[in-house]
Amino acid sequence: MPVHKGRCHCGDVRVEFATDTDTDRIAVRTCGCTFCQRTRPVYTSDPNGLVTYRHKPGALRTYRFGHESAEFVSCARCGVYLGAVTETSNGLRSVVNVAGALLKELAEKTATPMDFDDEDAETRNARRAKNWTPAQIEEIA
Ligand SMILES: [Zn+2]
Repeated sequence: MPVHKGRCHCGDVRVEFATDTDTDRIAVRTCGCTFCQRTRPVYTSDPNGLVTYRHKPGALRTYRFGHESAEFVSCARCGVYLGAVTETSNGLRSVVNVAGALLKELAEKTATPMDFDDEDAETRNARRAKNWTPAQIEEIA
């Protein structure tokens, strides 16, 4: 499966997004939530793909707010926001921030605005379990 590779600014966290979808067919989107209004991420996901976060010891910082149903993952050293992860009925899932991780071919695409603020927690969890990318988090030396 082709892999889009990126990292945070300092390199302590690396991000790999594996997907069989052709690059020109991958949709990217923005989110209107109060966190994303400030951090301006551009997201993508592929329920048939795989996203891997590889981080040095202590390099992952996570943040929760609102429903506290997802963790927003940043680099503890350089502060770059890399994506969100959540445990779903289908296992750990993620949306990757292609702008923060600088997945170059994807970061240049035009993003579609999305707004999920009106969802209840149950609807949100079901959507993430269905649409977000299977994810793994690994510590590296
Ligand atoms: Zn960093």
